[in-house]
Amino acid sequence: GTSHRFVSGELARVMGKPIEELKIVSCHLGNGSSITAINGGKSVDTSMGFTPLDGLVMGTRCGSVDPSAVDYVEKKMGFTPDQMTEYMNKKSGFLGLSGIGSDNRDIQAAASEGNERALIVSEIFAYQIKKFIGSYAAAMNGLDAVIFTGGIGENSDDVRADVCHNMEYLGIKLDDSVNHGLRGKLQKISAPDSKVEVWVVPTNEELLIARDTRDLVGNL
Ligand code: AMP
Repeated sequence: GTSHRFVSGELARVMGKPIEELKIVSCHLGNGSSITAINGGKSVDTSMGFTPLDGLVMGTRCGSVDPSAVDYVEKKMGFTPDQMTEYMNKKSGFLGLSGIGSDNRDIQAAASEGNERALIVSEIFAYQIKKFIGSYAAAMNGLDAVIFTGGIGENSDDVRADVCHNMEYLGIKLDDSVNHGLRGKLQKISAPDSKVEVWVVPTNEELLIARDTRDLVGNL
């Protein structure tokens, strides 16, 4: 939540618009990943749920699954409930699907060499992110901007390109030459004629916590 609040505030600042007038989908993609719909500065939906296990497939977390699959795997593997929870949090996601590791860089490297399981991970990840962007645009009745942040969102031009590919129906058009090779820099990466602006916004949760603490202490 801290990250989504920070990057959406930064985005409004660089777009030169009041956040109250913006419909934003913020994609924090890292070891842990979540996507938030921010309408007029308020979070109206987010991909994580009762715990951070919900939503997107992550480094080692499985993300949303059919609840019946939990029961099925638990019985098949002979897991206790605690072992099943550990399996879903620590052994699943990129790691479980790829059999390579939890780090996106290793997955991307293996995918570029044609490793089939790594390619499937990349496809699943981009597909899930696309679905969240589409559903949140529907929930907010529109979309002004998409943010990419977190270790993967800020650094992986491949993931950003895969997510934004074939999204013209929604008004999203990437500027591939700007996106290519861009790492960790505040930058608009959508084409000038893209209806929806797409931005890379480096997150800074520590700075927001420090600002909040200052404001709280200042009010004592
Ligand atoms: P975080 O949890 O936000 O620190 O993000 C960690 C994730 O960011 C890991 O999956 C890393 O592989 C990924 N990441 C960091 N740097 C890069 C990079 N240059 N290219 C692709 N992914 C990266």
